[in-house]
Order: sequence, then structure tokens, then C-alpha cells
Amino acid sequence: MTVLVVTNDFPPRQGGIETFVRSLCDELPEVVVYTSRSPGDTTYDADLPFTVVRDRTAVLLPTPRVTRNAVRLMRAHGADRVLFGAAAPLGLMGPALRRAGARRIVAMTHGHETWWAGVPGARQALRRIGDAADTLTTVSSWCEEQIAPALSPAAVRRMRRLTPGVDTDRFSPECGGEEVRKGLGLEGVPVVACVSRLVPRKGQDTLIRAWPRVLAAVPSAVLLLVGGGSDRARLEALAESTGVASSVVFTGPLPWTDIPPYVDAADVFAMPCRTRRFGFEPEALGIVMLEASATGKPVVVGDSGGAADTVRHGETGYLVDPYYPPAVALRLVELLTDPAQAKAMGEAGRGWAREHWSWARSGATLRELLDT
Ligand code: GDP
Repeated sequence: MTVLVVTNDFPPRQGGIETFVRSLCDELPEVVVYTSRSPGDTTYDADLPFTVVRDRTAVLLPTPRVTRNAVRLMRAHGADRVLFGAAAPLGLMGPALRRAGARRIVAMTHGHETWWAGVPGARQALRRIGDAADTLTTVSSWCEEQIAPALSPAAVRRMRRLTPGVDTDRFSPECGGEEVRKGLGLEGVPVVACVSRLVPRKGQDTLIRAWPRVLAAVPSAVLLLVGGGSDRARLEALAESTGVASSVVFTGPLPWTDIPPYVDAADVFAMPCRTRRFGFEPEALGIVMLEASATGKPVVVGDSGGAADTVRHGETGYLVDPYYPPAVALRLVELLTDPAQAKAMGEAGRGWAREHWSWARSGATLRELLDT
């Protein structure tokens, strides 16, 4: 029972959906992946235990040519299950793949399908995608609420939750944070870290705006911003104009292997993510918060979209108003000045991540949906 995975989101490109789709491949019995090109893909694919077929384009769209290729791959590999890494727009190929013999079609949704659900035209396309699939999956209750109104009642009844998991072996307490601190000269320094792409939605600017208040209470605190992105220059300028540049460290983008130790280098993990573009750009879930919990860190999370699902408020960390830096600062100071509480919340987060956010659990759900 081979599964054809059709996706634009696949490593070596970095991001939550890429990690999600890649990890699910490991949970399936037989897989062949059809995806787009990205820099470094040949080297990356060479080490994979399954076949990856790269289209000649950088973005896979549901054109007749791409559909023909997908059908050809189904036949060549004897695939009779299809997983769309993101439902929109590739799920529009659903009816053609069904005619070609797909017995089960699962289409995953993420944050951007909530946009499709709200925009005329795109909304109708999403409805067709829902009707063509056996199951449309969502990553959070918030996403489900946004997407369901665009679908037919039958498709809504077939919706299921499929969340990403966390590798709790990779992300574990004391997985290299001390070394990172040594390297950065941060031994014994209170550290708040955010690991994410540097884009406005993730709220690194809110952390910088909150930082003067944090420094007023914890003068030696350092804000560690891990990741790269289009917002870097603006954030650096903001740190300068806010007068906190000397206590903000930008690492730039890091290799995959460095992420867990950098998370572990923190006392508190914070991402006050916010919803942008009039509600059309929310945080669908926020896997970095779960990675931080798995590492045993208390988390401070912005209340945006499905991000609320990644924290048990008051137990594993706090959900905060991402538009109000003083509220963010209040929680950061609370956790930095009460290490016992921070530790207890981190431990609770680790337990929760292990129990509820394992890849094995996500894999079992997906195998059931694909009937493999
Ligand atoms: P998204 O970027 O909006 O998809 O945010 P998510 O929180 O859903 O997922 C981000 C994923 O990318 C997580 O698994 C992070 O650990 C990872 N990530 C974030 N920044 C970096 C980086 O600089 N390097 C690497 N290798 N991974 C990163």
C-alpha cells in the first residue's frame, strides 16, 4: 500500500509544514514523494530512505501537466493512497487522482487554508477540494472553525484533527544548552529565546518592545533571537532605537542540528505571535512552542489562531496578548525571577509533549485515515 505524497512543502526548505510532511513520511509503510525543486534538494534527497521525484518547477500547481505526472507516479509505484501535504491548491487534483485509482485521499490543511476559506473564489475551490478528499485534516480547533464553513456538510463530517508531533529525543532537557551558552558568553545569564523565522507574525518585535521592562527587573537578561528572515534589519533597528541592542543576540538561521541546543540554552521560550492581514495570516499552531516544551522550557505564547493549543495556560507556560508588550514583559519577568516555577512549568510541558504530541500518535492517526 504505497502512499503518493504530493506537496510543495518538503525539506531541504525549512518551516513547520516541511517538518510536518517529512516526519509523517517516516510513519507510513511505503512512500513516494512528488514535490517541487529547492536549493540543495539533490544532496538532501540522496540520503532519504524513499523515492522523491522533483518537478522541474519551484512551485507545484495543480496544472494538467502536474496532474499527469502525479497519475504516472501512482501507476509506476503502484500507489493507491494520496496525501496532499497542503490541501490548497494541490487538492484540486483529487478527482483526477481518484479516477486514476486512489482509494484514499487525505488533504492536510494549515494556516493558509483559513485564508482560502474566507476569500470568494478560493472558498469555492476549497469546497471542491473537501468534496474530492476522503478527509481534510486540521492542525488546531481554531483552523477547523475557520475552514469548516467553506466546506459541504459531508466534507465537514469527514474532517479530522492531524497535528504535528515533536521529536522528544531530539528536543530534550540538557541537550546542549550549556555549550551554546558557553559559546555565546551567556553562562549564568538569564536568557529568553525565540526560535523562528524573522517575520512580523512571529512577534520578535513585541519581545524587543517588552525588553526595556524586562531589563528594569532583570538587568542582566539577554534576548536570544534564533532564525533568519526578511524582518531582520527592521528588528535590529528596533533594538537600537529601543536602547536594548546590547542585550539582544541575533544568531541568524541555524542548521537543523543546532536548533535543540539553542532552545535548551533558554530559561524561558517566548513567541508572542500575532494574527496579521485582517485575520488572514494567523499562527496555525506553532510547533516551536511544542519543541520548547519538549526541551523542558516554560513557554510564553501569543494568542493567535491555533497557537493557544500549544500551551496549557498556567501549567506549561502562559498565553499572552501579543499586542501588549507590558503583558508579555510581566510573564517573562515572572518566569525569570522565579526559577522554581519556571522549572515546574518546563517539566509539565515536557510531560505533556511526550504524552500528547508524539509523532507516533500523529502517524497512527494518518495511517488510520489512509487505511494503510
Ligand atoms: P513556521 O515557520 O511558520 O512553519 O513555524 P513553525 O513553528 O510551525 O515551525 C518552524 C519549524 O522550523 C520548527 O521545527 C523550528 O525548529 C524550525 N526552525 C525555525 N528556525 C529555524 C532555523 O533557523 N533553522 C532550522 N534548521 N530550523 C528552524
